[in-house]
Amino acid sequence: MSFEINESCGVFGIYTREDDVAKLTYYALYALQHRGQESAGIAVSDGRETLMLKDMGMVSQVFSERDLNNLRGHIAIGHVRYSTTGSTFWENAQPVQVPRRGGSVFVAHNGNLINTVELRNALKEEGVRFRSTSDTEVVAVMLARSSQQSIVDAVKEVMPRLTGAYAFVVMTEDRLIGIRDPHGIRPLCVGRYMDGYALSSESAGLDIIGAEYIREVEPGEMAIIDDDGLGFETAVTAAKPSLCIFEYIYFARPDSIMYGTYLYHARKHMGMSLADEAPVEADVVMPIPDTGVPAAIGYSQASGIAFGEGLIKNRYIGRTFIQPTQAIRQLGVRLKLNPLIHDIKGKRLVVVDDSIVRGNTTKEIVKMLRDAGAKEVHMRISSPPDMYPCFYGIDTSIRKELIASSRKVEEIRRFIGADSLHYLSMENLVKATRRPKEDFCTACFDGEYPVPVPDEMMMTKCRLEKGKVGVQ
Ligand code: SF4
Repeated sequence: MSFEINESCGVFGIYTREDDVAKLTYYALYALQHRGQESAGIAVSDGRETLMLKDMGMVSQVFSERDLNNLRGHIAIGHVRYSTTGSTFWENAQPVQVPRRGGSVFVAHNGNLINTVELRNALKEEGVRFRSTSDTEVVAVMLARSSQQSIVDAVKEVMPRLTGAYAFVVMTEDRLIGIRDPHGIRPLCVGRYMDGYALSSESAGLDIIGAEYIREVEPGEMAIIDDDGLGFETAVTAAKPSLCIFEYIYFARPDSIMYGTYLYHARKHMGMSLADEAPVEADVVMPIPDTGVPAAIGYSQASGIAFGEGLIKNRYIGRTFIQPTQAIRQLGVRLKLNPLIHDIKGKRLVVVDDSIVRGNTTKEIVKMLRDAGAKEVHMRISSPPDMYPCFYGIDTSIRKELIASSRKVEEIRRFIGADSLHYLSMENLVKATRRPKEDFCTACFDGEYPVPVPDEMMMTKCRLEKGKVGVQ
């Protein structure tokens, strides 16, 4: 479940003259809501004029039916955000709009650039004044200032100057473009919808509107959608593919497809391998909902131990902006999970989760299960120890907060108070994806960052001395 990891963002775009693009985008953002709950936005174009609505909050809080009825056109892009670069305030909500050649360019972004400061400073020296602190505005300004007449050529000019992880959807008055970084770290796929096409961070965003999945946008590629249909062009030379492996473990929905595999099936295999690697005598296998469910089912099937639910998730809590009272704060994880005491009392439990970040949440959960009368608690984690921070758009933690960066597995077991603890091996994690390890970014686990991270950035998150970067 990883209450301790916050996703980065979800993007969506659609081009069709046969349906209401604002409403389609609204529903797609609903399907991508798990990727970000701090702000949501939709921009539309009718070919001549553009309109945008964005605000802080979840999709259901930001848009009313009346708002959507006012967003008329045949092109739309949408965004749900969790802040990574730039803090949480309205100006950082997306899409970002910047005037360009008598019209506008709108940009929505999932990922994180690691050369934002350099790009921003160069633009500031040219007299640009920024309204936000987000890297997305930097890219939108670069596109707007490009000398290229066509937005396609502007993208080709700008992309080679960007370093980091990105999946962008870009809209002008008459075009929709989807772009993926040379390593394809963040996902983006394209589908067919009626007379047009759609772009989405995850295939689940296509499914919800009934669009037909076509394929992923390849690393370094751009998908161009306009009145001529759908075309693909290389925007920047592709590098070693490095899709974020955490999409497989936790971030993306289990009903999304990546590299041709349903993530549900991959996660189930992770659970089966966990049962092979770390069998234990127990009465029930239970997941930490929701993301631990497929792996727990896999563990149950491979081990023959019954699957059962012992923790019920409060599905509607989402992200609240109301500060909790001290008494409510003390409830901690109880706000999100409630134990089924009858199904836990006196039982030996195998508890399956996708990851342990700082360890505090897992500790609270183990305590809650013991308080509910569990006889034994055996934690099984469907990923290797999370030891290194992410610089590519996922808000994990600074390194020293990652419990596995400084403690051995046995020390973590003692800290969380479980009877046993096992993390899935890298080998079996990769096997579950049915792709070679080389196709992924696995930096969280092994510190092998596919895009070199500048020393200053590394030092901020790793609190390391210069010269000792990434080798602790
Ligand atoms: Fe994903 Fe971790 Fe790589 Fe970030 S560092 S892209 S979370 S695998």
